[in-house]
Amino acid sequence: MHVTVLDIVLAGGGAVILLGLVAWLSPRRGRRALRQRLGVVATRLGSDTPLESRNLEESLAHLERATDAAAEAVTETTSETIRLRRALDALHLAVVIVDESGDTVFSNHRAAALMSGRHGDAIAAQAVEELLETTPLGGSEERTIELYGPPRRTLTVRTESIDNGSRSLGTIAVIEDISEHRRLEEVRRDFVANVSHELKTPMGALGLLAETLLGETEPQVARRLAQRIHHEAFRISRVIDDLIDLSRIENESSPPREPVPLNLVMAEAVERVRSAAEQNDVELVVDEPSPELMLIGDRRQLTSAIYNLLENAVKFSYEHSKVTMTGAREGEAAVVRVTDTGLGIPARDLERIFERFYRVDPGRGRSTGGTGLGLAIVRHVAANHQGSVQVESREGEGSTFIFRLPLKPRTS
Ligand code: ADP
Repeated sequence: MHVTVLDIVLAGGGAVILLGLVAWLSPRRGRRALRQRLGVVATRLGSDTPLESRNLEESLAHLERATDAAAEAVTETTSETIRLRRALDALHLAVVIVDESGDTVFSNHRAAALMSGRHGDAIAAQAVEELLETTPLGGSEERTIELYGPPRRTLTVRTESIDNGSRSLGTIAVIEDISEHRRLEEVRRDFVANVSHELKTPMGALGLLAETLLGETEPQVARRLAQRIHHEAFRISRVIDDLIDLSRIENESSPPREPVPLNLVMAEAVERVRSAAEQNDVELVVDEPSPELMLIGDRRQLTSAIYNLLENAVKFSYEHSKVTMTGAREGEAAVVRVTDTGLGIPARDLERIFERFYRVDPGRGRSTGGTGLGLAIVRHVAANHQGSVQVESREGEGSTFIFRLPLKPRTS
């Protein structure tokens, strides 16, 4: 809606001024002249009936109604403007609008911070200004800006010219921070590359072994080759099983909530790891909590998390050593600690071992039959249950993994 200065003046007390004008004019200039003047004003206020045809009382009443309507229109326009401004401030985007001569007529909160060049945003501000200047009438521009930070950020700036069909009304710029989007894209790309790599190696081995087997006449050698094929196939199926597990756990961000006795979860995990422990000659020492200690969550996920911690402890232990697991209540949380006295983890890798496919020593990881996905599963299970997993380790001395879950998780 177009609001003129006259509208605003009239809305904010115009009627009073006009009534004064009427009182001043009437004795000297005559009623006719007055009606004419009122007619002009009413027309400017948007009245469609000519006032000259009415008597003075009617004209004044009509004029009053017209000024009321104008005042209402101004109030409405003001609140619409405020609403629009607030809505643009609420956006996670920076928005700048310039008029046809390039002067800024609006910038929302984010844009104001960005354009003031705080937080090292000067480069972004400069790019926005350049694009606003160069966007042609009826056209648009787009640019991606890398800010090296810290923190490192990627922004996109899009500009679009605004017109009313015949002439330019200015240009709008929308600036979006796409850093998180970029990061997720990188993670996804890495993941696909890692999965392909993890499967390619054993698949290649399978192909070679099968080819050699085809030409083998010696039964004993053929048997050994078949065993190797079996081993490689098992490795592939483990990677696939872990991937399926991980994707199920990632998708179930709010798993079923049922009371699960912690001692049962621990016992199930121990059962699953027992034969590997026997093979490695590792003793399992378990200090179970009382059966009353209940977790709230998904039994399958919880068992899988604790099993992965135990399996790692066994896998990365020396022969004839001990792995201990304790489960207990600590304040408002249930805490499971899995401790080994094995290889340990170098300090520089501690941050990264929970990433998918990260192994401290890739060669060692593969030779122990690991998929590199176990700790990613543990971390997701903990997050799904509003809990956490931490590690304390010294290279060459062993590790303790601490899995902590709140006893009363928040209901969402
Ligand atoms: P993997 O299937 O290789 O065990 P994980 O995600 O479970 O994959 O573990 C990632 C890496 O963290 C392992 O490859 C290993 O290098 C290291 N790691 C995990 N647990 C232990 C542990 N108890 N002792 C030593 N290193 C460990």
